[in-house]
Amino acid sequence: MKIGVLALQGAFREHRWMLERCGAEAVEVRKPEDLDDLAGLVIPGGESTTIGKLLVEWGLMDKIRTRAAAGMAIYGTCAGMILLAREIVGSDQPRLGLMDVAVRRNAFGRQRESFEADLKVPEFGAEPVRAVFIRAPYIESAGPGVKIMAAVGDHIVIARQGNLLATAFHPELTNDDRIHKYFIEMIQGKA
Ligand code: GLN
Repeated sequence: MKIGVLALQGAFREHRWMLERCGAEAVEVRKPEDLDDLAGLVIPGGESTTIGKLLVEWGLMDKIRTRAAAGMAIYGTCAGMILLAREIVGSDQPRLGLMDVAVRRNAFGRQRESFEADLKVPEFGAEPVRAVFIRAPYIESAGPGVKIMAAVGDHIVIARQGNLLATAFHPELTNDDRIHKYFIEMIQGKA
């Protein structure tokens, strides 16, 4: 199974290594043609305004939308989650707008620029997910087609809508590969 990692800016190498460790073939995506034969695409963390601008400049924005409509799965972490969202509170920055959620950027406040938390995720069993948040967004509200998989207080930090998956944190920076495995199972129709 071939999964692409958007490699314009941000933490893309770590995602590639994580996907390879989970048994997928992982390739870096920079040009529209790179998307042609992918079963899935990971959009990494980084700076969402920069990645969004580059998506437009490099001709990837529309192509990703077309491929997603044709069934390509997408997993967005942090900035990637922001780019998936239909609404970005207080911002008109470029985005894919595929997921029926409203996200707030840098949402946990300055005093919590970076923190870790143990998340209970029923899909992944009893062992909590150790989540690393870096200037993280959260999902403030979600449409009826969105499945909420984990939250910190009232703030949604893992969500899925059909073939779209989003996390506010960075699993690729930990040793826990359950989210990447879940994404692969999603593509295989097992999750
Ligand atoms: N704060 C960043 C943004 O708004 C996201 C941070 C991250 O991806 N770690 O784009």
